[in-house]
Amino acid sequence: MEEDSKGESSMKALTRRGFIGMAATAGMATLAGCGSTSSSSSSSSSAATTEAATTSDGDLGLVEDGKLTMIANMYFPPFESMNDSTGEPEGFDIDLGKSLAEHMGLEANWLPSQAFDSIVPTIKAGGTADCAITGMTITDERLKEISFSDPYIDSNQALVVRSDSDDTEDTLNSSDKKIAVQAGTTGEEWARENLTEATIVPLDEIISGMTGVSTGSYDGLVIDLPVASNQIKNSFTDLKVIEQIQTGEQYGIAVNKDNEALLDAINTALAEIKKDGTMDSLEQTWFGTTL
Ligand code: GLN
Repeated sequence: MEEDSKGESSMKALTRRGFIGMAATAGMATLAGCGSTSSSSSSSSSAATTEAATTSDGDLGLVEDGKLTMIANMYFPPFESMNDSTGEPEGFDIDLGKSLAEHMGLEANWLPSQAFDSIVPTIKAGGTADCAITGMTITDERLKEISFSDPYIDSNQALVVRSDSDDTEDTLNSSDKKIAVQAGTTGEEWARENLTEATIVPLDEIISGMTGVSTGSYDGLVIDLPVASNQIKNSFTDLKVIEQIQTGEQYGIAVNKDNEALLDAINTALAEIKKDGTMDSLEQTWFGTTL
């Protein structure tokens, strides 16, 4: 991710800070009920440490016993996408979810893709999924509806056009320009606030927006920078990033507000994953570098 290079030092710093902050609590990271469905009380020796450590699977309020049921919008590579040959979801978030489930002594269960803008309402309503891991930025607005785990990755936005385009942010901010965004995202928000003259076109699948920029249906696209970088490198070599928009976003795992035990358990597992090197290896696998 060449385009990312400027942001990397701050990401490293953040990862380090997160790591140090969480290391203090790592001692209590052995979650109760690691023997999956059998809710034993064998963990009661660590009862004094945290709420999460004293919680058996049954107390996590899981949609399905013994499983961590997760949702995402599966068109956001390399965070999540459908593998064409296996028909299975894959990506950084997918592996992170698997690892979280493993650390929690649960089976990972990914539900079929959902439109991104339906995910916060689904988590808020409860009953469908335990959490969403979907490159979702922690925002104040979303925090009114749902809870977020500790941040697990830093991100920014990118303004993308066709390689042969001379457009700039200024020229795109014009009534004859069409800008694709993914509906309900921080990219849409940025586009609506900053490209006020242009026609903003919200889409359910942002990859179709990339195709649209490539074929000329849209003049530009606003999307999270890591996804832009990945897709321009691997699939849409005829597109380019003309501006990295330093929005300073952080992704978190979305959990229902009423389920504090689950949120604690996820944060504990996340801290373990950062500490034991799993996070680094996931970054290496999906970004070719540690962030
Ligand atoms: N990070 C952006 C947001 O949270 C986009 C997420 C996505 O499209 N999956 O709004």
